Amino acid sequence: MFGSVFSGGIVRKALEKDLLEIHVHNLRDFSSDKHRQVDDRPFGGCQGMVFKPEPIFKAVEKVRENEDTPVYLLSPQGKQFNSAIAENLAQFSQIILICGRYEGVDERVLEHLATEEISIGDYILTGGEPAAWVIVDAVSRYIPHVVGKRESVEEDSFQRGVFDHPHYTRPRNFRGMKVPEVLFSGDHKRIEAWRRIKALEKTRAIRPDLFNDLNSEKRGNNDESD
Ligand code: SAM
Repeated sequence: MFGSVFSGGIVRKALEKDLLEIHVHNLRDFSSDKHRQVDDRPFGGCQGMVFKPEPIFKAVEKVRENEDTPVYLLSPQGKQFNSAIAENLAQFSQIILICGRYEGVDERVLEHLATEEISIGDYILTGGEPAAWVIVDAVSRYIPHVVGKRESVEEDSFQRGVFDHPHYTRPRNFRGMKVPEVLFSGDHKRIEAWRRIKALEKTRAIRPDLFNDLNSEKRGNNDESD
């Protein structure tokens, strides 16, 4: 499932340049069961199957390089993944992501092995693998030299608490749809101001929560300077 996802684009280039490594481990290799079974029926009776703790504990114990390595259990019940978490995770030399399936994972993995649970959004995936792709992709952008220009990461949406500004390219007039005139003015201050306004307008319309956070941060800074 993972091979093709990382066989193209920026992540593949980063792998080729040894800027990061991705290792995928099959939990069946850590099962002591003769059928290499990794799941079982839930105690107390309910639908579906649950990942047994043993293969997961053994796998993490084998691959973890040091005690500080964050071990994340992918789960819809976890803390919501965002750009701040991605940036923070990029500082670690290793992170471990545990992908669940079925009804989920024996709770002892969360209680005694994982650092915490992490979710990529309020919906249910059939397995943790797509969530792991999302996290690996987002974290890799913060690893130095993975994205060509540092500014392109810094100007992206969320980085400064607002969305990125709109982008346009050739042709200047496409089927009568014209690129805003200000972008041809050559006046960098005006262009910057226009971009800032557009970014703020869209953030306020789509994500009022982010916009309000931005305003309260600003008020906090002003209070400090008073
Ligand atoms: N029974 C679980 C519940 O309701 O919380 C859902 C299990 S889900 C079908 C199977 C696995 O997919 C989970 O163990 C988790 O690893 C992964 N998964 C599903 N949704 C996810 C999400 N939003 N974020 C991260 N991982 C998710």
